[in-house]
Parts: sequence; structure tokens; C-alpha cells
Amino acid sequence: MRQIFNPLLAAPFFAKNSLVLAKGFGQKVFEKKPMAFSFNVSEHCPNNCKCYWRAQPTVEEWPEEKVIEFFKQKRKDGFVQVTLVGGEPYCRPQLLEKICGIIPFAWLVTSGTVPLRKLKSTLHVISMDGLRETHDKLRGNKGLYDRIEKNIKAAKEKDIGPIYLHTTLNHVNHKEIGEMLELWRESGLVEGIMISTMTPTKDAHDEPLRLSREERIWIVEELHRLKPIYGNFMAMTDNMIDRLHPDHTKDLTPENCKFALDIESYNGAGGRISPCVLSGKADCTQCGCVVTNMATGGGVETTDYFTRLASIK
Ligand code: SF4
Ligand code: SF4
Repeated sequence: MRQIFNPLLAAPFFAKNSLVLAKGFGQKVFEKKPMAFSFNVSEHCPNNCKCYWRAQPTVEEWPEEKVIEFFKQKRKDGFVQVTLVGGEPYCRPQLLEKICGIIPFAWLVTSGTVPLRKLKSTLHVISMDGLRETHDKLRGNKGLYDRIEKNIKAAKEKDIGPIYLHTTLNHVNHKEIGEMLELWRESGLVEGIMISTMTPTKDAHDEPLRLSREERIWIVEELHRLKPIYGNFMAMTDNMIDRLHPDHTKDLTPENCKFALDIESYNGAGGRISPCVLSGKADCTQCGCVVTNMATGGGVETTDYFTRLASIK
């Protein structure tokens, strides 16, 4: 059943977090300070995609105690949201158990390779880049699609909280988006699909996946066609869809990007990744990242993702 905001269930959450929430939102409004960050929980991954993380220099992960200390300091500083990324965050499941709940709201972005856990105030986002065959090919991991499906079913039975899919549309998979939406909505296993388009990144060896201008325009038109059919299951507003258009992204820079301005990104050794989690190797003028789109064009609809998390025990 879809998790909804429940004020009674959310009361302990607000009792525990009211001070940090007040500080974070206060600093955001009056001092324009960031109140969200992303952290590479793990610098390892069992998959073999051509991705922005692999294009970045490898670093040695901090030990657990340092990560926990860092999260506690971020809470003291007024950070209210964290996106847990990697590599694959589930490569360090014990660490996840320890850090989830320190920052009031967490999003955990995972490839879904291993069983998912019930983690405090955490929304799971599982990367799914196409239908079965395409996904496994892009991930370089045969059988992964079926394993993800099994892990999501088990997670639903354990009632671990909201689970979304995230797909990055590229040259190879973009025509599958309609079928993906239909299949997953019918499955009843996830609450929706978030959509990015592929951002070309230097050293990621992603040339075969890059979208042409025509393909990117086709995606914008196709998403507008699909939006009335799938409603909120397609977890993006019309405004967010428009922001994927090449005529919009051509003017994006780190200086006007809400992701770069409002969200700090850190690698697994606490080093700052700048200007955003995709690093300086990403081509801003073709950026299709859902986070920057959500930050600028998400509107009030996106607050739903957070308020519902407060109701998870
Ligand atoms: S699963 Fe994610 S982090 Fe791992 S290689 Fe693929 S895109 Fe990169
Ligand atoms: S790559 Fe995208 S998210 Fe990162 S700074 Fe550039 S426009 Fe922003």
C-alpha cells in the first residue's frame, strides 16, 4: 500500500528532528545556505556501467566511525536531507544501518543488486535503465533485472518504506520508456519512476550512449504524451519535462544550476565533488539530471516525497 503522510505516525519524527529542521530551513531562507548533501557511502560497485562515478578518481573510503562523525556534524550544521550514493551504497550495509536516521530525510540510490533493508526515514531509489535485456546489458550484469524484481518483492513484504525507480534515458534505451511505465505501474511494486536523460561525461566512455539533439527532443515530446496517462506514477512535473529540452539545457552552468548551488556533494573520503555529484567532467549544456530538474521545476509535488518519509517508523 502507498505510504501516505500520517500526522500521528510522524509525531515522533518531528519531536526528534524539530530543532535541526528549524535550523536548516531558517538558514536556507535567511542565509541561502545549503541544507542537503550527497555522500558516496561506498566507493565500490559490483556493476560495470559506463557512469560518472567510474570517470572520477578512486579514493579510499573513510572508516565507519569517520562517516558517522561526519553525518553527526552535518546534522549539527542544519542539514536536513542526504542522498546516499556511491558506487553502490549497499556494499556497506552495516554502515547504512548506522547513518540512516542521523539526517532527518534520506534518499538511497541503489542498483538493487542485494536485498534491501528497512532503514530509518529512507526512501529507496533503484536504478533501472530499460527493459530486462537492455538493463542487464547496460549494467554489464546478467540476471540483474530478475534479481532486482525479487529484491523489490521481498522489500515490499518487509514494508521498508517508499521505493521508486530511476531511469536514465540514453541512446540505447529511450524508446522503452512507455513500456517501462506500463509494466512497472501494473506490477504495483514501486510508487513511481523518476526520469533523467543521459549527461555526457568526459572519461566515462559513454559515447555509444549519448543522445542526439533529435532524440532528446523526441524524449520531451514522448514524456509529455505519457504524463496524462501515468500521472504521478511518472515522478516528474510538466515543468521538469520541459527542462530536459536541449534549448533549455544549453544555458545551464554551475553558476545557475540549483543542484550545484544548493546541494553539497562528497566522495567516500569526505572530499568535496564539485560542482555537483556528476563532477566537473559532466557537460552541463546537455545535463538531464533529475535532481537539478526537481530542484528547479519540481514544485510542491516533490514535497510529497519528504513528508511521507516522516511517517515511516
Ligand atoms: S551501478 Fe551505479 S555506480 Fe555502479 S557502475 Fe552502474 S551507474 Fe556506476
Ligand atoms: S552537470 Fe548538471 S547538475 Fe551538475 S552542475 Fe552541471 S547542470 Fe548542474
